Amino acid sequence: MTKFTELNLNPKVLKAVQDAGYETPTPIQAGAIPPALEGRDVLGIAQTGTGKTASFTLPMITMLARGRARARMPRSLVLCPTRELAAQVAANFETYAQNVKLTKALLIGGVSFKEQDTLIDKGVDVLIATPGRLLDHFERGKLLLTGVQIMVVDEADRMLDMGFTEQLVKIVEMLNSKRQTMMFSATISENIKRISGRYLTDPVRIAIGPQHKPALNITQQDVKISHDKKLPFLIEELERRSGSVIIFVNMKRSADSLTRSIKEGNHKAVAIHGDLKQHQRNRVIKSFRDEKCRILVATDVAARGLDIPHIKHVINYDISINPEDHIHRIGRTARAGNSGEALNLISSADSSKWHAIQRLINPEDNAKKFS
Ligand code: AMP
Repeated sequence: MTKFTELNLNPKVLKAVQDAGYETPTPIQAGAIPPALEGRDVLGIAQTGTGKTASFTLPMITMLARGRARARMPRSLVLCPTRELAAQVAANFETYAQNVKLTKALLIGGVSFKEQDTLIDKGVDVLIATPGRLLDHFERGKLLLTGVQIMVVDEADRMLDMGFTEQLVKIVEMLNSKRQTMMFSATISENIKRISGRYLTDPVRIAIGPQHKPALNITQQDVKISHDKKLPFLIEELERRSGSVIIFVNMKRSADSLTRSIKEGNHKAVAIHGDLKQHQRNRVIKSFRDEKCRILVATDVAARGLDIPHIKHVINYDISINPEDHIHRIGRTARAGNSGEALNLISSADSSKWHAIQRLINPEDNAKKFS
């Protein structure tokens, strides 16, 4: 088994990894870190919870530890589909670069431009951004991307699903073609193949585990139930279960109304969805992360990439419309080697969505059925 000490990381990065309590690199880390450090392009196919963030942050910090940033010309760029994911990537840089002098800026919507401008003006080693806000800064003439030597696209499949293809193309075309590119995606679709073929040069490809399977340490329970019985059933389940719970719904409106009903059932709950302002989202995530509130009701867009190790249960109150979202939802539990439970409430109206999920997870069974 590979050891962190064999990966040629900067000793100060290694120290931060040891302080974080990690003993051995995860497979995506063992696979991606060596070629990344050689300056190769990397295409990493890995599910959430596999340690993929450190697989690009650790080599980036090692490479960026040498050299300094110039004003308005960031040296590296990490693009993320959502604000929450971008904030989490920034937190990873914070942890692993604690012994290295590295400047970073987080460019996400819902935060004032002024603060972000000041950081960019000073010069940053790492820019972590969502596509929309990055383009806003660029169009205001405050940012030059030609100095970017390393670019990472995190959760590329989600980025494309969320309709960011055009923005992504625009951004990549503003960069210097002599750069290193790393792309990470939980799934490999035709679109990912096309984009990676266009923007990565002779990449090292690392695919971890089956691409459409939930992590093995998640116990799933499927309950067939009529829609009007879901709420009382949920309240009973919340009473029965201890530990942090995330409940998924498909619509912003349902997130708010379900949260109200749960509160009426005498449980403390908070909601998160795309209509909340950034400071509201931060407050909600903080109270859930700090375990001040154990129940979070969420839509997919807001919950993507959440890395909160103490999430014990994922309840799919609504079955996801996009089958791949189901894998991401249940990947919120069983993080970093913990075990977790997923409960799927399936009404007759959910059955076609549920079958689509089954086809994604068990394509072999499906092939057998139709052969
Ligand atoms: P990610 O897939 O990047 O979202 O990471 C999932 C979780 O794994 C995070 O909580 C990390 O802190 C944790 N993690 C990352 N690398 C390791 C490692 N080598 N050993 C144990 N846990 C890790």
